[in-house]
Amino acid sequence: MEFAGNTPNAVEAIAEKHLVQPWPVSETIGAEARGFIESGDGIYVTDAEGRRLIDGPAGMWCVNVGHRNKELSQVMYDQAMALSYNSPWYTTNEPSALLAERLAGHAPEGVGHVFYTTGGSSAVETALRFMQFYNNVRGRPEKKLIVSREGAYHGSTYLAASMNGRPRDHDWMDSAKEQVIKLSCPNPFRRPKGMTLEAYTDFLIEEFRATIEKVGADRIGAFIGEPVMASGGVIVPPPGYLPRMRALCAEHEILFIADEVVTAFGRLGHVFASKEVFGIEPDMITFAKGVTSGYFPLGGVMIRSKLFEDLRQSNHNDAMFAHGLTYSSHPIGCAVALKNLDILEDGLLAETRAISDHFQSRLKALEELPLVGEVRGLGLMAGIECVADHVSNNPLTLDLEVGKRIDRHCQALGLLVRPLINMCVMSPPLTINRDQIDTMAEILHKSI
Ligand code: PLP
Repeated sequence: MEFAGNTPNAVEAIAEKHLVQPWPVSETIGAEARGFIESGDGIYVTDAEGRRLIDGPAGMWCVNVGHRNKELSQVMYDQAMALSYNSPWYTTNEPSALLAERLAGHAPEGVGHVFYTTGGSSAVETALRFMQFYNNVRGRPEKKLIVSREGAYHGSTYLAASMNGRPRDHDWMDSAKEQVIKLSCPNPFRRPKGMTLEAYTDFLIEEFRATIEKVGADRIGAFIGEPVMASGGVIVPPPGYLPRMRALCAEHEILFIADEVVTAFGRLGHVFASKEVFGIEPDMITFAKGVTSGYFPLGGVMIRSKLFEDLRQSNHNDAMFAHGLTYSSHPIGCAVALKNLDILEDGLLAETRAISDHFQSRLKALEELPLVGEVRGLGLMAGIECVADHVSNNPLTLDLEVGKRIDRHCQALGLLVRPLINMCVMSPPLTINRDQIDTMAEILHKSI
C-alpha cells in the first residue's frame, strides 16, 4: 500500500521531524529516528528495505491473532458501515453488550461487569479510581493507599504510571508517590543466593503481611499486580505467591487488581489467566492489547459485581463515579473484540497451550550461551536476560544496551525482538508454528 507515493525514507524523515515517539530521551526528543514498517502478514512484518521479519514481540505484546487477519479487517469495515460511534453516556450498542456478556463468562465467578476503556493505562486508571470512589462512598476515605511492586509496569497516565516500579520510569517524572507502597519484585532469579524458592515465597508474603500490619489495613485500598510481570522482564512469580497474596488481600478487604493487559486473550493460553493459570479470583482484572489483537484501541476492567451491590446499599445515593471516556464501549472496538474472541475460542487458545512447551524449551536452550543468565517465561511470553558472568549474575552492561545489540543482529537475520536494557522479550503472535519457533530460536542463538 502506498500513501501519496512517499518512499520509506521520506516517511522516516517526516516522522523524525514531527512525530514524538513513546519514551523519548532529551538528547533526541522531537527528532527521533525510528525504522519504518511497511506492512504485516501473519507472524511477519516487512521493513523499509522489504525484509520480512518475524514479529517477535507481536507489536507490543498485542497482535495475538497475527497481522492482516481478514476476518478482523472485515468486521471493522462492517461495523463502521453499520454504526461507527454512539455516546456511551446515553446509549448502548450491540457489540459492547454482547462482548461484556462473553467476557463475564470467561472471568472468575462473580466478576460479571466490565467498564471499557481505550487501552491499558486507562483501564488501570479506571480500576484505581474506582477503588477510591468505592471506599469514599463506603465511608472509609482513608483506605486508599495502593500496593504495587518494584519492576511493575501499569501504564502512562498519572495514577497508573505512579504504580510503575522500574526506576527509570520515575527518574524525571512526577508521580502520586504518596499514594503508593512498593513491595519487592517477585523475581526468583534475583532471590538471595542460597535461598530456596519456598523460603523466598515466604519472605515475599511476609513482606506484604508486615506492610499491612505497619501501615494498617484500614489505609490500604488495593493491591495491583501483573500475574506475570511483562515489561519488567517477564517475571514469573514463585509457585503459591499469587494465591497467598490474594488471600491476604481478602483477609484485609484490600481489593486485588490483576493487571492482565499482557497475560489475557491467549498469551498464556486462556482468555484470562488469573484463575485458569494461577488459581486466583481477583476483584478487578484490567485488560487491553490482545482483546482486539491490536487492530483497534480498546481496553477495560472486569469488576466483581458485588462491589456495585455494596455501592447501591451505601448511604450515598447521589455519589457519582465521575469517570468516563468518550470512546468507552466503542462499537468498532467491541465488534473486533468479539471476532477476535471467536478466533481464540475456535482453536487458537488450545493451539497456544499445545505449542507453549516447545516455545519455552527452545528458548530455554539459549541458557547454554555464556551471556545468557536466565530464560524464563510462560505460555507464549519469554524473557532472555543477559549477564556479565554466571557467577555474579550481574546484568550485562555494554556501551550500546545489550538488548538493542541483539535486536540489531536478529533483524539482520529476519527477527524483530523487543530489547529491554540487558534483556530481550519475546511474545510472538499466537499463530506461530513449531518451525517458525525453531527459526526464531536459531536466529536468537546466532545473534546472542
Ligand atoms: N499494564 C500492563 C501490564 C502493560 O504491559 C501495559 C503496556 O504495556 C499497560 C498496562 C499500559 O497499556 P497501554 O499502553 O495500552 O496504555
